[in-house]
Amino acid sequence: MTTSKPSGLSRRDALKLLGTGVALAGLGLKADAADAKPSAPALGWELPALPFAPAALEPSIDALTMEIHHAKHHQAYLTNALKLLADYPAMLALGPVGVLRTLGRVPESIRSGVRNNVGGHVNHCLFWSVLTPEAKPLADGVLAKQIKVAFGSMEEFQKQFADAAMKRFGSGWAWLSAKSDGKLIVHSTANQDSPWSDGLTPVLGLDVWEHAYYLHYQNKRADYVAAFWRVANWSQAEANYAALHAS
Ligand code: MN
Repeated sequence: MTTSKPSGLSRRDALKLLGTGVALAGLGLKADAADAKPSAPALGWELPALPFAPAALEPSIDALTMEIHHAKHHQAYLTNALKLLADYPAMLALGPVGVLRTLGRVPESIRSGVRNNVGGHVNHCLFWSVLTPEAKPLADGVLAKQIKVAFGSMEEFQKQFADAAMKRFGSGWAWLSAKSDGKLIVHSTANQDSPWSDGLTPVLGLDVWEHAYYLHYQNKRADYVAAFWRVANWSQAEANYAALHAS
């Protein structure tokens, strides 16, 4: 894995890692580091480079917001996560996603900090990967089919997703996630809570913290949510969903 493009993990690698992660979930933290390491699909304990230039998503997301969001906000979550886990090598060995999937086993004294900061790291890694300056509509395929099954149509899915993003009071995220049986759901989480901690696999996520949009959109969160569809990376969403199915 390179630090330059963690979101660009090949589908094959993602399948392998996620499959191991699922098996590992049953073993919990007793797994040794060698077994535990692959449980972190697509990311490790470093700040991934943005997969595009900060200005590439304009006018949907402005360059200054992208720069601050990535270099300051995301970095701070990661820095804090590493400080919290510095004395817990077994948890570090699980990888960020592995930690979130077994949050209940994290010592209570640091659990809240881990939830917020490892969650912040993992959520933002996902977020950068599902943005692209070269957005294309979702192609016909397994994910398109399952969206129709779950929501009736792409339009209805987008409506429900926007509702979740708008109704999340304060800071949080809107998600398209998959249950372990592959069924898709739209939901939102507060703060930096992660779908992984609820046994879900995030397929697509939108950061609705004010830091994600306020410079450009101010209080107009709805405009930011609408703009998301102009930069959403459906190819990555498909890969995220395919990884679940192969495990
Ligand atoms: Mn954010």
